[in-house]
Amino acid sequence: AAPAAGGYLAGMNPEQREAVETLDGPVLVLAGAGTGKTRVLTTRIAHILATRRAFPSEILAVTFTNKAAREMKERIGHLVGGAVEGMPWLGTFHSIGVKMLRRHAELAGLRSDFTILDTDDQLRLMKQLIQAEGIDEKRWPARQLASAIDGWKNKGLRPHEIPEGEARAYVNGQGRKLYADYQARLKVLNACDFGDLLLETLAVLRDHPDVLAEYHRRFKFILVDEYQDTNVVQYLWLRLLAQGARNICCVGDDDQSIYGWRGAEVDNILRYERDFPGAKVIRLERNYRSTGHILAAASHLIAHNEARLGKTLFTDAAGDPEDPKVSVASSWDSEEEARAIGEEIERCQRRGVGLDDVAILVRASFQMREFEDRFITMGLPYRVIGGPRFYERLEIRDALAYFRLVSQPADDLAFERIVNTPRRGLGDATLRVLHEFGRRERVPLTEATRQLIATEEFKGRTRVALRDFVESIDRWRDQLPTMKHTDLAELILEESGYTEMWQNDRSAEAPGRLENLKELIRSMEEFDGMAGFLEHISLVMDRDSGDAGEAVSIMTLHSAKGLEFDTVFLPGWEEGLFPHQRALDEGGRSGLEEERRLAYVGITRAKKRCAIWFASNRRIHGSWQSSIPSRFLDELPEAHVEIAETGSNYGGYGRQNPYGASRFDQVERFSSNYETPGWQRAQKARAAAGGAGGGRGGFASPGQAPYGRAPRTIEGELV
Ligand code: ATP
Ligand code: MG
Repeated sequence: AAPAAGGYLAGMNPEQREAVETLDGPVLVLAGAGTGKTRVLTTRIAHILATRRAFPSEILAVTFTNKAAREMKERIGHLVGGAVEGMPWLGTFHSIGVKMLRRHAELAGLRSDFTILDTDDQLRLMKQLIQAEGIDEKRWPARQLASAIDGWKNKGLRPHEIPEGEARAYVNGQGRKLYADYQARLKVLNACDFGDLLLETLAVLRDHPDVLAEYHRRFKFILVDEYQDTNVVQYLWLRLLAQGARNICCVGDDDQSIYGWRGAEVDNILRYERDFPGAKVIRLERNYRSTGHILAAASHLIAHNEARLGKTLFTDAAGDPEDPKVSVASSWDSEEEARAIGEEIERCQRRGVGLDDVAILVRASFQMREFEDRFITMGLPYRVIGGPRFYERLEIRDALAYFRLVSQPADDLAFERIVNTPRRGLGDATLRVLHEFGRRERVPLTEATRQLIATEEFKGRTRVALRDFVESIDRWRDQLPTMKHTDLAELILEESGYTEMWQNDRSAEAPGRLENLKELIRSMEEFDGMAGFLEHISLVMDRDSGDAGEAVSIMTLHSAKGLEFDTVFLPGWEEGLFPHQRALDEGGRSGLEEERRLAYVGITRAKKRCAIWFASNRRIHGSWQSSIPSRFLDELPEAHVEIAETGSNYGGYGRQNPYGASRFDQVERFSSNYETPGWQRAQKARAAAGGAGGGRGGFASPGQAPYGRAPRTIEGELV
């Protein structure tokens, strides 16, 4: 039986209630983390349905992820009692965009069965177009054009709308023409890309008033979660649709705007009242998620940002005196960090915390590798949210395919994967010939290639490319017995052009991929040789996906938005990693502020426990580099933070913090006095490690002595 109308309102505070019940006219809920913004949206939908102001099909509701959309549907079902009969327009911007575009495909020059290109197809197409212009694709890489086009689409710009000067910077001054060519070509192929799902829909709505009018009649209510991260095209699309019933309710938190690097415009919040005249702005100030300590830590940290609208947050004043403070702990390096966090999670389990209630939130995806390896060893179930697991990432699979082919010449799958990655101008036809020959002669593809290039089968560039490829593989294989496997791995990625391919890539993901490749090589150091490493990998890859049952969640801070967990671990709080160097280099002050918002998002995911970690040393290219604790640590309020007793206390040694003396230096130096002074132990480690490692000391910054490669036994002794 359906609950009494309005039952869903029970427990809402007055401001939340107002946000739920103000159905007419534009509403903006501007509020900090955990104040119930998402819950308000869900309850609002329940309220609309319960008061019969609209049918489910007349509500447009936008969430940030598909997962969030599913959860919202479920919750609404709970609130109104029984399953919600279809909410066809509840989903992400993209899922709603694709649905609209299919309905009006012909107006966009497409058929309704159009395909959505993946990045690979997209790049191939652009490359063809660049070449057709007689432009050197090496100088003007397709990836660069791809990311420019993506950026324009995020801004809602069609080819003729791009500012003249801006397009000139691309493809030898032909940026605009190639964008237009690309769009035209997509139409011929009856295809579109991800960016088109919104851009083309926007164009249809703009150019066809009758279509727009239909949607104006249809959508009685529009609701948007995570409004602070909408980009321009999403904003324009929303604004157009909202001109109908004008009942639009957006919820957001300017302090959680973390997608500026992908074109999100926090200004969309600032101009809300201008664009939607008469908008009611509602602020929620009570946080229902986190303990007072967690909230105080997050609020204190974010107060260091200048670009803010400013909000207050409080939690139930009668906090539990038993609530743990936010803990800050240091480890010797990232391996110890993963080990210690793994053990801490086991202790959580013994205290009765389910694994589903534990998350590890990393700044960069490469950090996941250490945790995944460790958890596999421990038999601790985990799942990676919002992306593939480390060893399943595109760039890692590619690199592994190179290593496999070098180690096992008969590995045809590896051969197929990389023979044309990076592109060597080898097409499907060539592969077919190789396959047929291989099957007929019962030889693997490498051998088939070797035999065929000795004949007249392949000509010109194809032949040269194939010959270079097998010769390289042979050369690397010859080096296997003599060269250190990590050096060889690096050499392979370099000589094959694989690393360079990503270096030339201008997409937002490319730097992360390069970091992952470095981490892959770093992870190899733990093995004696290539064979041992590859064996480990096959075991890791073989492991079932662990989707069933409770599991620790590992994800990036970016994908943690909107989620909450009992216990949250935040590893890697070191300068350069978090705040990330790239954000500082490219974004300056605003880059730093976006990083700080990311830290705020991280801390506020925790309900009860939040544990921050930093490693005193990171190994980069085989040599140790001492790291500086993140400046964000010093921005936490002392009264709400405790320095955790950890296995080692080396953090304080030899660090010169350019941001002034860190509290964390002091505390650790002090605590390490109980035993061997920290500096002595660190010195011992350095001596045992035997100076700068492998002639690759070049990564340490001035004033920081690079550690040599510390053998594992030494690390063991240190803990
Ligand atoms: P974020 O900014 O992180 O997305 P949010 O503002 O969307 O956070 P919610 O996720 O909606 O916050 O709510 C945070 C937690 O507080 C949830 O567990 C939610 O169920 C709970 N909550 C919200 N409002 C209330 C309330 N009035 N009474 C009890 N619990 C509430
Ligand atoms: Mg939310």
